[in-house]
Amino acid sequence: MRLRIPPSPTGLLHIGTVRTALYNYLVAKKNNGTLVFRIEDTDKERGSAEFEKDIIDGLVKLGIAGDEGVHVGGKYGPYRQSERTEIYANYLKELIDTEKAYFCFCSKETLEQKREAQMQAKKPTRYDQTCRSLNADESKKRIENGESAVIRLKVNDDETIEWNDLVRGNIQIHSKELDDFVIARNLSDPLYHLTVVADDHDMEITHVIRGEDHISNTPKQILIFKAFGWNIPEFAHLPLILNDDKTKLSKRKNKVSVDDYLNDGILPEALLNFLALLGWNTADNQEIFSMDELIEKFSLDRVHKGGAVFDLKRLEWINGEWIKRKITENVYAFYETYHAFMPKNDPALVKQMLKDSDFEGRFKKLTDIQPELSVFFDPLPEYPKELIMREKFNITTEMLSKVLTAAKKVMESIDWQMGDRSKHQTLFDGLVGIVEQLGLKNGQVLWPIRVALSGRENSPNFATLAIYLGKEESIKRLKNALDQL
Ligand code: GLU
Repeated sequence: MRLRIPPSPTGLLHIGTVRTALYNYLVAKKNNGTLVFRIEDTDKERGSAEFEKDIIDGLVKLGIAGDEGVHVGGKYGPYRQSERTEIYANYLKELIDTEKAYFCFCSKETLEQKREAQMQAKKPTRYDQTCRSLNADESKKRIENGESAVIRLKVNDDETIEWNDLVRGNIQIHSKELDDFVIARNLSDPLYHLTVVADDHDMEITHVIRGEDHISNTPKQILIFKAFGWNIPEFAHLPLILNDDKTKLSKRKNKVSVDDYLNDGILPEALLNFLALLGWNTADNQEIFSMDELIEKFSLDRVHKGGAVFDLKRLEWINGEWIKRKITENVYAFYETYHAFMPKNDPALVKQMLKDSDFEGRFKKLTDIQPELSVFFDPLPEYPKELIMREKFNITTEMLSKVLTAAKKVMESIDWQMGDRSKHQTLFDGLVGIVEQLGLKNGQVLWPIRVALSGRENSPNFATLAIYLGKEESIKRLKNALDQL
């Protein structure tokens, strides 16, 4: 199997491109196939070297760029369309010589007028084949004499074009839906349908897996394959990625560039995991996958036909799970890799805090780490009285005073060094003991202690807070809360 990723460098690496690349990568890996990475840069106006670099670097960084192509070379190159102009020119000449394609000299104005007339007559707007009947030798002479003409493919009037789409099943289109479409502006300016087919042929591509937005291109490309007498690859069209209002994923509603997500603290593993599930699932709805598991479990026949809604909350949940996994697996590697996201405090201490499972579920993104860990490092913030006396616990001032005093006593009776996890249980038991001692409810005791120590609504548990704040600071904070009563 030979598959391909052929992005056009007309924007920064797009989430949709990564999803398509990933599915190609998974199919290639699973079947011991080869994934070819090429660049479709024939659109000189919209393309740029900067975008090309972003796309190549991004796919390489994500590890799904494949084994052959623009980033590593290979024996089917060149892998940039701009370096293949001569190849295309020869193919165009071949189609003209075999009379599968022809030069069309109709001016833009003439075509426009005919179009208008067709529209007014409520007829489909198709090229009327005026130049199809021109004598081929004469046309060639006119070109040699400097006349300009586009090149059109001859499309049979009565032909059913069909393929067995590996996602969508049998698809048929009648050739009368098409017209003699333009495949090149001139011999040295080929258009997408011609170049993509030429590349797929030259690079011996066996499977074309791409977005559903390309379905209408497939019949045209099949006709080009046929015109040359080439083998036609298998096709699979992936569901569109949608905004949550079911419109096509757009910049206005979602970030679409991969770097936006990575810079925002999404792990590459999580992004790929999430994208794999954007249009595919396993029978048991597994949600967290390593790359190896994806390769093992992915299959095109479980790819959905309907559009896949881009759910940012799900991405963040998956990311949180991946952050947890990475921290548990190897906190040192995690710290080093994501150094830029870590608080600039004692590295050993930070690593230990990261491992503290109290943060479970609260690191949704790497950018959550600094603000979450700062609870241990920052001075106590001012907090409103309503926070410590949270209404649902029915805490009275008298109760609060007793609780804080008891907590202070517990802490004064225990000795611990800042960061000394071995005292966690003792502190925990001591503080929980206050519940029974005062005959109160859990929330009436543990909530105010946690707020007094952190000044925050969300934070790790009271014992962990005490461990990392240290004895002196913890007692100071309890005193501070008592003073405010
Ligand atoms: N260059 C096309 C794109 O970026 C890909 C075409 C294809 O997969 O055939 O959408």
